Amino acid sequence: MVQVQTFVFNPFSENTYLLYDETGEAIIIDPGCYDRSEVNELTDFVQQHGLKPVQIVNTHAHIDHVLGVAALKRKYGIPFVLHKLDEPLLKAVKTYASNYGFSAFEEPEIDGFIKEGETIEFGNTSLKIIFVPGHAPGHVALVNDAEKFVIGGDVLFRMSIGRTDLPGGDHATLLRSIREQMFTLPDDYTVYAGHMEPTTIGFEKRNNPFFK
Ligand SMILES: [Zn+2]
Ligand SMILES: [Zn+2]
Repeated sequence: MVQVQTFVFNPFSENTYLLYDETGEAIIIDPGCYDRSEVNELTDFVQQHGLKPVQIVNTHAHIDHVLGVAALKRKYGIPFVLHKLDEPLLKAVKTYASNYGFSAFEEPEIDGFIKEGETIEFGNTSLKIIFVPGHAPGHVALVNDAEKFVIGGDVLFRMSIGRTDLPGGDHATLLRSIREQMFTLPDDYTVYAGHMEPTTIGFEKRNNPFFK
């Protein structure tokens, strides 16, 4: 059974997710850990639980989601993958990182690209990749049918949706992604978002003010 461990990192209060199952294999999604103490919080958890991270996967490449990628790649010697359409966003981060106070940001090397319809595998666990652009052009979400959840990134939040005023953002595209890709998941699926607390598909279909 897959476990979802949440860490809240950096001044954007970004949710970093560590997923692991009974085999001890783990993947790290959207590592936003920036300073030494944040990186240690994640690596200490991995060590204390005897886990073996095998891959870093990003839902998208905004700065708050990629701050820890380089450090964790180095620590574990594991590949980093994301959707190809978010590569320009990743390449842009170093041009604005110091404006946000992240002068120590290190651009990670990309090891591979993922796309919709494929699966991410680790241990006994499988995550289906869906394509949900709008907040970012190459935004993906990761669906686990066995435990009924989706790691949604910055697409759908409790009572809110992702912002679309950043480069590559598009409001109509985001609404369509949520309607066609997220709201077609079963109502009882938990949404682990990139910020704030988890929600469910059913709750958002009934209560999200953007879909009234
Ligand atoms: Zn974002
Ligand atoms: Zn974010």
